[in-house]
Amino acid sequence: MSSYDAADTATRVLVLNSGSSSLKYQLLDMRNGSRLAVGMVERIGEKTSRLVHTLPESGGDSSDGDSSGGDSSGGDGGRERTGRFADHAKALEAVADELAHDGIGLDSPELAAIGHRVVHGGLGFSEPTLIDDGVLAEIERLVPLAPLHNPANLLGIRTARALRPDLPQVAVFDTAFHTTMPEYAARYAIDTATADAHRIRRYGFHGTSHAYVSRRTAELLGKDPSEVNVIVLHLGNGASASAVAGGRCVDTSMGLTPLEGLVMGTRSGDIDPAVTFHLRRVAGMSVDEIDELLNKKSGLVGLCGDNDMREIRRRIDEGDERARLAFDIYIHRLKKYIGAYSAVLGRVDAVAFTAGVGENAAEVREAAVAGLEALGLAMDAKRNAVRSGEPRIVSPDGARTVVAVVPTDEELEIARQTFALIGEDRPAIA
Ligand code: ADP
Repeated sequence: MSSYDAADTATRVLVLNSGSSSLKYQLLDMRNGSRLAVGMVERIGEKTSRLVHTLPESGGDSSDGDSSGGDSSGGDGGRERTGRFADHAKALEAVADELAHDGIGLDSPELAAIGHRVVHGGLGFSEPTLIDDGVLAEIERLVPLAPLHNPANLLGIRTARALRPDLPQVAVFDTAFHTTMPEYAARYAIDTATADAHRIRRYGFHGTSHAYVSRRTAELLGKDPSEVNVIVLHLGNGASASAVAGGRCVDTSMGLTPLEGLVMGTRSGDIDPAVTFHLRRVAGMSVDEIDELLNKKSGLVGLCGDNDMREIRRRIDEGDERARLAFDIYIHRLKKYIGAYSAVLGRVDAVAFTAGVGENAAEVREAAVAGLEALGLAMDAKRNAVRSGEPRIVSPDGARTVVAVVPTDEELEIARQTFALIGEDRPAIA
């Protein structure tokens, strides 16, 4: 474990989020959670891949170090490279080059660890986990549960390990926060033997965000997470709700896959499972076609042709009926989950809105809370209209249940959990 020796000076964590054809990364300094570099490579393996690299904490200026970056070109406060990155290894090498160019390369002694986002950790991974061959094999075993995501995550891990085999690498699982769900919330009411044979149960996703936001919400209330019950509404392109009691998740809206629950950008969310039999038997669609219909062509995009809430609001303002109905269906489902989780929690101290829609769309927050006064929810229109990147309360003073906007930060949470794991004695930042 000689790599841990540089503990006092090694305060940086590289966070990697590896998709099937993309690699997103952030380099964070855990002394204060600041970003030293943020970027992504997209279209890996295609004819023209693109790497965008920025240095946010230095105002996006990438001028330290000479500019001998080959085909690097100046861009909006960052550098952009196009060319072909045949695979994830080539993409990560290019990222390493960019970081080295800025004097913050993968070989610098300040780098303490790499934290990897892994989508599916099954039931076994309830905590961030130091990666070794056994852990890799276990993530591989979970591929049937996340056939699109886990192979891509594995690719990122294997590539990073090849580049820095001596460095601690940590897997942070999207499902981990939800492993505290009681059996009665996690199990579907189907034949137990069939469910167990095929590992069919509700796992939940977006866990890193739900963990971060529920904790930040407690902070906003000036309380310890163990003292508060929070409903977290993560409303991005994918969307999920969770009920968090005293810091532990007791229910969440996504299930075996991210398809269940709220209406999303392109996913249907909750649906009578018999719709799928009907599509197969009556409409003659294949299983793959149904999968694509429900995951890619449903939700807001299926209802009105747009999945961007800004565009939907614009169309509503112009009197577009389809956009109006899509919005109303989205809100109706959201309200049902707020009501359901109020019942699950018994007492709700706060409802926290987060992610792209939750943080930015004041109309969604207003409509979701409207009429729920009996549940203790109310909105202060002026506070709700304020645009800010900070956690903030948007309900009136004295409301029984606080309504809050709490920007999520999954990369910071992955870095925080990674850093805490590799040096238990180091101070963890908030
Ligand atoms: P994901 O990470 O799931 O791709 P995000 O959390 O980034 O999604 O959210 C993306 C969504 O946020 C967009 O599809 C858009 O609908 C919504 N969004 C972003 N900015 C605004 C805004 N100013 N007003 C309303 N919706 C917004």
